[in-house]
Amino acid sequence: AAGKINVNIHHIGAFALDKHTRTGDRPFGGGEGMVMKPEPIAGALSSIKETKPGARVIFLSPQGETYTQRTAERLATHEHLILLCGRYEGVDERIRAYYVDEEISIGDFILTGGELAAMVLIDSVSRLLPGVLGCEDSAENDTFSRGLLKNPQYTRPRDYEGFTVPEVLLSGDHAAIAEWR
Ligand code: SAM
Repeated sequence: AAGKINVNIHHIGAFALDKHTRTGDRPFGGGEGMVMKPEPIAGALSSIKETKPGARVIFLSPQGETYTQRTAERLATHEHLILLCGRYEGVDERIRAYYVDEEISIGDFILTGGELAAMVLIDSVSRLLPGVLGCEDSAENDTFSRGLLKNPQYTRPRDYEGFTVPEVLLSGDHAAIAEWR
């Protein structure tokens, strides 16, 4: 609503060539499941690229490079990203080989589709963009951002059920607090 980021959803079925809007078919050579057909995906990508010519195409895939905060920082420098979400057994290899710039996995486990992985990317990249977080430096000090884990955090009350806040945090000694953190 504030215009800091813009997310558009494109249904690959809208680019299917047959009247049944089929986006998947049986795998050549046999085997289980369905494979996403190349033509609807290529059609969707070229339609998006008409208005976003330099957009980087990212395929969410368990076979991709494992996602990290460094990757999020790198992706945050791009103006446009296209996040391609697979379904079924995945996408035709020719899409992976010739239409995708980069493959990203969000971890060594299998999701049913790439949509949740895309949402993980959208969330983690968006919060690095100017004005998205309330406090500008809160992303800079997050875990992973500076090669460290975030320090333990405390807020009021000082004494919660007999569990107290470390004295150093109440000392007003900024050097000692920075060292403790
Ligand atoms: N048959 C594929 C394999 O064994 O590698 C798995 C396909 S999976 C059921 C369907 C889609 O979910 C994938 O094409 C991908 O887009 C998405 N997906 C599944 N696991 C993922 C992960 N760990 N990270 C990112 N995307 C994932």
